[in-house]
Amino acid sequence: MLYNSMQKRVFLSLWFLLFPTSIYIGYRNFPIGELNYYDTTIHLIILVILMMLPLRMDSVSITLERWVLFYVFFHYGLLIEMIFVQIGIFIVLFSDKSSTSKLMRFTTNSMIFLLVSLISGSIYYALGGSLMEQSVVKLTILGFIYASTYAIVNNVLLYLNFKVIGHKVIKFFDSAVKDYVLTLLLLPFAIALCFLSETLHSKSLLLIGIPCILLLLIAKNYIKSEGLNEVLTSSSEIGHKLAGNLLVSDVLDTFLSQLQTVIPYENAYIVDLHGDKLMMLRIVESGHNLKEAKLFSCSDKIKDSDGIDYNEVKIYPNRKSIDKLERYGFSENIQSVMTAPLKRGLKTEGFLLLTSSKKYVFTDLHEKMAELLTGYVTASIDKAKYYEKTVEKSERCGLTGLNNYRYLERKLDEEMIRYHTSEIHSLSAIILDIDHFKSINDTYGHQSGNDILRAFANLLRKYIQADMTLARYGGEEFVLLLPNADKENAYQLAETIRQEIDDSLFKIIRDLSTAREEVEVHITISAGVASLPEDANDTKNLMRNADRALYIGGKRAGRNRIGMYGIENDINVEI
Ligand code: GH3
Ligand code: MG
Ligand code: MG
Repeated sequence: MLYNSMQKRVFLSLWFLLFPTSIYIGYRNFPIGELNYYDTTIHLIILVILMMLPLRMDSVSITLERWVLFYVFFHYGLLIEMIFVQIGIFIVLFSDKSSTSKLMRFTTNSMIFLLVSLISGSIYYALGGSLMEQSVVKLTILGFIYASTYAIVNNVLLYLNFKVIGHKVIKFFDSAVKDYVLTLLLLPFAIALCFLSETLHSKSLLLIGIPCILLLLIAKNYIKSEGLNEVLTSSSEIGHKLAGNLLVSDVLDTFLSQLQTVIPYENAYIVDLHGDKLMMLRIVESGHNLKEAKLFSCSDKIKDSDGIDYNEVKIYPNRKSIDKLERYGFSENIQSVMTAPLKRGLKTEGFLLLTSSKKYVFTDLHEKMAELLTGYVTASIDKAKYYEKTVEKSERCGLTGLNNYRYLERKLDEEMIRYHTSEIHSLSAIILDIDHFKSINDTYGHQSGNDILRAFANLLRKYIQADMTLARYGGEEFVLLLPNADKENAYQLAETIRQEIDDSLFKIIRDLSTAREEVEVHITISAGVASLPEDANDTKNLMRNADRALYIGGKRAGRNRIGMYGIENDINVEI
């Protein structure tokens, strides 16, 4: 909840007006009971304890102090009830870890409760309520009206406050109904106490107060273990989702999006740790995947003294603790940070860093969640890495280390998609084939043939630029794919390669002879070039036409030359 400076000024001025006025009205216009300081101190202590033990249920936090307040109201009157609430709000404020400014929280709550007390108290007295001894029936009926007004006015004012400061109001009606029911449930305790105190005096309050506090503590513990259960259930669900990803990048994306459902982070970073080097692998800021982080920076090397815990999940709940991470840069408005190591066995291989602009957002449960999930994510990354390696292996030629036919097929499909989505406007293909390679094998031996294939592959590698694909198509045939290159460019490249081969001598060891002498072999190549969309409308035709060009313009025309699909004398020739 954030108040702008204008709202701050208005709220403060209103408070300075409302606070003394309400206290004065409470003092002048309503009866005040006789105070027993010992009793009232006990009341106040129990009130504050109850206010400091909120129960979190379904994201709504409830406190059970109202029966003490109602008793104080019935017994001592409106003014004392008002003062009790104000003291309670003031004390609770310091035990609370909300990110909103304490001053504004106090002013708002104080004003809301001054009005709640005044309105519900006035109605109670207007209907004939008093501090005098009253029958149970009368106190119950008036108490019911008083408690109902109390809860309703409180929720209406809360709602208006949220609207004024533009705070998102989710399921407000639900929580208002819960609050109303709870208030009515607490009313009988106050009524019972009124009658009990006549005989037992201050002991009566202890008789109800102490069990109430103990029950609250038990309920809190129960809710905490329920929370832990939830952590286990949702993290195992997330674990399954992670395991379904086969690519490392998908594992990381799924991890961060799933994490968002259980930990309220605003920005997330996955940092890889290799030796002492740091590198950001994933950056998500305000729901967007970014290439460069805007709200966090880390040096590219770690040092022992940099403050990040590389062994355990750690929460930095406020700016003061964040500032201890001296070697890391966090934007001004980051108020909470959580770090969690990504470990393989005992070795930390990276870490997850979550940040938020709110103070104290990360809790013990989130810590547990991060601990479990980082374990799952490293296991899934390992699996995905293994899969990627296997695929990589299956798409590589063992002899030359180049991509193989399987890879080429996939790449052709991808290029076709890029062409259809206008990411590229053309695609040229060159098929290169070594001339009379069979006779090289026959003359020098198969091993020597292999050496030439390897040397040829290395020579081709030199020509690869960013977007190009090079693959071994078959035995002594290789393919180059050139996105966004026209046929003339492709032809020029093929011609340059042909020329270089023609000018080169390949050194090989004569495989067939016993002397194993080194010989220099001269080879030539032929190639065929075709382009999309000029010569074909799909990659299958593109490859077929490049092959035709190789056969007709290259081999048939005498070898050691480049055939270009579509050149007059080529296309009309029947194969
Ligand atoms: P052309 O000029 O018409 O292309 O004649 P060529 O002899 O090069 O063509 P052909 O298709 O008749 O023969 C290709 C030869 O390449 C046959 C095969 O033994 C050889 N070959 C295919 N794969 C390999 C390999 O991995 N290593 C070796 N050493 N030879 C291979
Ligand atoms: Mg061939
Ligand atoms: Mg050949």
